[in-house]
Amino acid sequence: MPDKPNILIVDDRQENLIALESLLEECDAHIHRALSGNEALTLMLKHPFALVLLDVQMPGMDGFEVAELMRVNTQTQTIPIIFVTAISKEQQYVFKGYESGAVDYLTKPVEPIVLLSKVRIFIQLWKQNQALAEALQQKDILAEKLRQQAEYDALTGLPNRALFHDRLKQAVLLCERNKNVGALLFIDLDRFKWVNDTLGHKAGDQLLIDVSQRLCHCVRRTDTVSRLGGDEFTVVIQNVPHESFVEMISRKILDELARPFQLGKKEVQISGSVGVTIFPHDSVVLEDLLKNADTAMYKAKDSGRNAFCFFTSEMNDHAVRRMVLEEQLRVALEEEEFCLHYQPKVDLKTGHIIGMEALIRWERHDGMVFPDEFIPLAEEIGLIVPLGKWVMKAAALQNKAWHSAGLPLLTMGINLSAKQLNDQDDLIKTVDDILAATGLPPESLELEITETTVMENLDVGLKTLQALKDRGIQVSVDDFGTGYSSLGSLKSFPIQTLKIDKSFVRDLSLDSDDAAIVSAIISMAGKLSLKVIAEGVENQEQLDFLKQDGCDAIQGYFFSRPVSAQACTQMLQEKKALVFSS
Ligand code: C2E
Ligand code: CA
Ligand code: CA
Repeated sequence: MPDKPNILIVDDRQENLIALESLLEECDAHIHRALSGNEALTLMLKHPFALVLLDVQMPGMDGFEVAELMRVNTQTQTIPIIFVTAISKEQQYVFKGYESGAVDYLTKPVEPIVLLSKVRIFIQLWKQNQALAEALQQKDILAEKLRQQAEYDALTGLPNRALFHDRLKQAVLLCERNKNVGALLFIDLDRFKWVNDTLGHKAGDQLLIDVSQRLCHCVRRTDTVSRLGGDEFTVVIQNVPHESFVEMISRKILDELARPFQLGKKEVQISGSVGVTIFPHDSVVLEDLLKNADTAMYKAKDSGRNAFCFFTSEMNDHAVRRMVLEEQLRVALEEEEFCLHYQPKVDLKTGHIIGMEALIRWERHDGMVFPDEFIPLAEEIGLIVPLGKWVMKAAALQNKAWHSAGLPLLTMGINLSAKQLNDQDDLIKTVDDILAATGLPPESLELEITETTVMENLDVGLKTLQALKDRGIQVSVDDFGTGYSSLGSLKSFPIQTLKIDKSFVRDLSLDSDDAAIVSAIISMAGKLSLKVIAEGVENQEQLDFLKQDGCDAIQGYFFSRPVSAQACTQMLQEKKALVFSS
């Protein structure tokens, strides 16, 4: 933006111009001269003027004509004019001047003080306008920056998930209107995590940037490459002439990804997997298209990486979906897409947090998945054993971190599946390793085993439980009340705690049967010297009932939902506790 205003002085006499200019010298402005109306109009189209000092009497085009012409051109119509005239006393002239848009007039001979005071007003006005224009420009720049942030990935500069959705929507609409075909490619890198873990985040970031550039080279300018997050990229291809065209692009992408990457001094080899879905053929619903491409991508991964795969409707079959989920689970474990949330266990005598339960979550690119959706499959395909080990290790490390930070030592509850209980040697070794690695006392570990798991594996299970007890590790029976164990048979079990299932707690105040069952469990447990904890406590009524009946501890949304480790840390630091009214 210009730092000084431009002022135009117009007079047919050179000496007048010189005189005016010398008077204006002390104003902070660029002065331009014109000797005729024509010259003045030409200059006005070249520079943005803050003011024109316009002589009225000029041969050829006089000042009024110049003013009239200025008023019909949008570029000049807002420039303020001060007429300079020798015959000012004639009111007529003055009026004529105002009609043609003058803002002011001066009489010749020009009085320096009058001239300067008038001109200064216009310079002041120009400065204010300038500041306003600058502010508006800043605002535009800021708005553009925010838009960039909202729509583009900061690392690679590619469209992010939000803009990708927009582009895909547009592409689908366009191909429906033009009756042609489009494709969505879902691309996942096969060794990204390895790079990140072994070479560091900087190398990982560099890899993502390089990958995004290579991907952009594989497609036409009209196609959109986006980064959805992590190492997941998509390509939207419009106007596909033939399926073989998409095949060719997919191959090109795989070839590009297979070429070595130079990350600092290291040369790194990775590969990718590409899933393809075609619209409108496969679907026109955005979520479905994304799911299709994702499914096809996992199929490609499953068929041995560095491959691409087209979506087919058979992939929606139950069996295939399961296979894909299976592959997703394996990848998730490899790439550590799991995390733990923790739910506090609260003592009903003191109100203090005495322990936590570790609950697994799967952070998939399309959102968080809860354990009920994948634990059964993980059990079926044997993945639960490595997954369970990961959980135990991660939870123990977290427990150790809290303790090291000066927080009270907690009991960490970990859910065990039947498969883990059945492989006694493996389980005991895992537990021993973790205790040795963390240096935590065995009592800080509490394994939660469901009632049905124990009952269905009586001989092996009991032996394992005994071995755990011998080490000082605690065992609780989860979901108690849902199975068929008689309370009596518990007497011989090497366990310390019963966890009353949340289904009984839920209807405590409504259903007197449930209330009776809960009371019976609590009093029986007391006789067997077992501790009782109730899960799923959601309100004060349930809490009051359990406290009155002598239940030892509770867990549930009433005190806290399962939350991230970070949120738990805060709870522990703030010493969050239950407050009892009586
Ligand atoms: P669970 O062991 O019975 O865990 C308690 C479940 O109840 C958790 O669901 C928890 O979020 C939920 N819950 C807690 N408080 C309340 C409440 O006040 N009201 C209600 N309605 N629900 C409450 P989540 O986290 O979805 O876990 C579901 C099941 O998945 C667990 O049931 C457990 O059997 C299994 N699971 C979770 N993590 C693991 C793990 O690391 N390994 C194994 N093998 N199983 C796990
Ligand atoms: Ca549990
Ligand atoms: Ca439970």
